[in-house]
Amino acid sequence: MEIAIIAHDRMKADMVQFLNKNKAVLSRNEIQMVATGTTGSKAENAGFKVLKMLSGPMGGDAQIAARVAEGKTQMVLFFKDPNSSHPHEVDINMLIRVCDVHNIPLATNEATAQLLLSAIE
Ligand code: PGA
Repeated sequence: MEIAIIAHDRMKADMVQFLNKNKAVLSRNEIQMVATGTTGSKAENAGFKVLKMLSGPMGGDAQIAARVAEGKTQMVLFFKDPNSSHPHEVDINMLIRVCDVHNIPLATNEATAQLLLSAIE
């Protein structure tokens, strides 16, 4: 199962904390993680193995959306910052739409992400 992780800048520390908290499930052999570039680097620094895409503003969200559309990614955990605007807002909205089109579970905040992970524990 492939899980995508994305965190906006002000949410990256929360994402690392979340990954550490859920290390047991995320380190299982059948789980692969894919991430936007900077989020992926933070996860790697925390000791996780992650397939890194481009940084979000450079097209990383769009690459993850493509993986969802192609059936490669089965879950998206997206720590969105609701209090800032983003140059790649259209890509973010496209990712959300593609998850809906393909009925892929998408969390846009930590509480929902925790519920989704608890479903595969
Ligand atoms: P980043 O991208 O992980 O490369 O910062 C996240 C985003 O802004 O969508």
